[in-house]
Amino acid sequence: MIDTHSHMYAEEFDTDRDEALQRAWDAGIETLILPDIDSESRDRMFDMARREPQRCRPMLGLHPTSVNDNPRWQEELDMVERLLAAPPMPVCGVGEIGLDLYWSREFYGIQREVFHAQVELALKHDMPVVIHTRSAYDEMLDAVNTYKGRGLRGIFHAYAADVDMARKLCRAGDFFFGIGGVVTFKNSGLDAVVRDMPLELLLLETDSPYLTPVPHRGKRNESAYVVHVCRKVADLHGVDEAVVDRLTTATARQLFAL
Ligand SMILES: [Zn+2]
Repeated sequence: MIDTHSHMYAEEFDTDRDEALQRAWDAGIETLILPDIDSESRDRMFDMARREPQRCRPMLGLHPTSVNDNPRWQEELDMVERLLAAPPMPVCGVGEIGLDLYWSREFYGIQREVFHAQVELALKHDMPVVIHTRSAYDEMLDAVNTYKGRGLRGIFHAYAADVDMARKLCRAGDFFFGIGGVVTFKNSGLDAVVRDMPLELLLLETDSPYLTPVPHRGKRNESAYVVHVCRKVADLHGVDEAVVDRLTTATARQLFAL
């Protein structure tokens, strides 16, 4: 199994990261994909990846909320461009990038500019993108529609829109949908969406330390808990967990060239 979205390099794991990682390996997780946020946490991400280079695969990218209220956003973007040209260790994608209008629409223009710049970088380096979208699916559809026919590929991480939106997004590129702990929440509505989506389009993720699945909801999330997401997706599709594991692992391996 692969956790396609793990921030286990975050401070939340500073006292017990090794133990938490061991729990992930013991749970049968073979790889953690580490999404980048910005320069503040990037060294921590690479430090963790260097200690487990076979199992932890970092990405490079500037998170949309990291440009909000940040007069240094251009500098941050330039840094991502420079690092992608000469990464300190191999990186497997450009992310996480995207649009987040949940907190404010004030920075939409800058977020959009930073998103497009990084999609161009992904295309230039022939890498997948990992896209964060919050309160901005219509805007995101407009954004990715401009890449139709250019071979853009990637993940809509923590997917939270409906099946119709997923279909529209898929026409703009070779896209997959990251499903995490929210699918296990009562009344999230995501269960009905996941039930109607083909397993071939789904990927499993935790977004640890956030969005902790049932039965650990309310506590810190960690990559080992991706097994609960797998179980829920399997239940929704009426198949064995091993089927979901096999399909999603194959998709993730291919997308990230693991
Ligand atoms: Zn994330």
